[in-house]
Amino acid sequence: MKITIHRGANQIGGCITEIATNTTRILIDFGLNLPNNEGKIEDNLATTAQVEKLTHAVDAIIYTHYHGDHVGLFNLVPKRVKQYIGCTALEVMKAKQTYINKSNDAEILELFSTYKSGKAFVINNDMRITPFFVSHSACDANMLLIEADGKRILHTGDFRDHGYLGKGLKKVIEKYIGQVDFLITEGTMLSRGSEKVATEKELMTLISNIMKQKKYVFVQCSSTDMERLATFHKANPKGRLFVCDTYQADILNIFSLAYKKHSSLFNFDDLATFPKSNLLTEMVSKGFCALIRVNGSKGKYAKFIEKSIREIPTSEQCLIYSMWSGYVAEGKHQKSEYIDFRKRFSSVADIHTSGHASKDCLTEVCSLTNPTSAIIPIHCEQSSEYKNLSISPELKSKIITHSCFVDGVNIDIL
Ligand SMILES: [Zn+2]
Ligand SMILES: [Zn+2]
Repeated sequence: MKITIHRGANQIGGCITEIATNTTRILIDFGLNLPNNEGKIEDNLATTAQVEKLTHAVDAIIYTHYHGDHVGLFNLVPKRVKQYIGCTALEVMKAKQTYINKSNDAEILELFSTYKSGKAFVINNDMRITPFFVSHSACDANMLLIEADGKRILHTGDFRDHGYLGKGLKKVIEKYIGQVDFLITEGTMLSRGSEKVATEKELMTLISNIMKQKKYVFVQCSSTDMERLATFHKANPKGRLFVCDTYQADILNIFSLAYKKHSSLFNFDDLATFPKSNLLTEMVSKGFCALIRVNGSKGKYAKFIEKSIREIPTSEQCLIYSMWSGYVAEGKHQKSEYIDFRKRFSSVADIHTSGHASKDCLTEVCSLTNPTSAIIPIHCEQSSEYKNLSISPELKSKIITHSCFVDGVNIDIL
């Protein structure tokens, strides 16, 4: 068996992992690099020729979730390679493509195969893959357990335990996964300070308090982060409108259809969707929580939001910024568009928590899966930082940051 980390050992995003036996070869995630501070994506692998080379002899690509740094190269993949993602995740990707209006990408998505959390599937009769649902800032995100050549490999994808859906993580690992041979795990938070990570539930309390003080709340958050959207929706006082545009409504309807049967938290059936007659009048009289997007949105909804900001008394409105602080803090990731938008408000609250596993959570996953052969960190700025986790010396000695041969498995870290 061979495990190749094509990309992601020493960078966040652009993840590509390959697992190969003598007869089967799969890629887990096939992501684009994250955008730089000017919002531009620089990626030397994002060409048909490079993708052709990387996917040569690959049987299938399995995606953990729909974030661009995990799926971004999907539209360059040759048709002979099967691509898999969770069923709800695929719905979200399709809704996004309709919004962006890239017909070629929509055709490729029609060819995708889907998997269901907890249901194993087999590639080429010799590689068994079981997805396990995890909490992340995307819905229908999954860890993947790969069983082949007598080895058990857990690829965590992006995950956390401090979201509503993260409560079951420990139980799932204990009951359904157990000990593995190789753990390929994200380590995003290793380079992001040591402060305590707030839970999604704690955010809800903070947001509720703001909504008690301000009748008109504008929210800047990811349009596909189901748990965060649920936090805002639930915190919005009864009788107030939950305002969004048709794209956001499409995404929220997908979430409702798939998840409201599991929890009323994910029931977004009462949206006030723009365009709608007399919407602004109704918003002014009832109060609202309005989901906005700042990224280059110059459309009708953006103009409507501009008008709302102008017409509502400044003292009664507030912006809640609920994304990574790096985009609005001084430094290389700062987005000038976000900074300019904040200046429109006299009251701004920054309320956010990470979509990624805290150091404590990473420690727990390492201990619970207790890998017999190796821990391979990915999705972190420096994979060597994994050695700073409070795990046992024995587990620490199994952290791999350079190519090597372990227990019959060739590990290549490029
Ligand atoms: Zn990611
Ligand atoms: Zn992600």
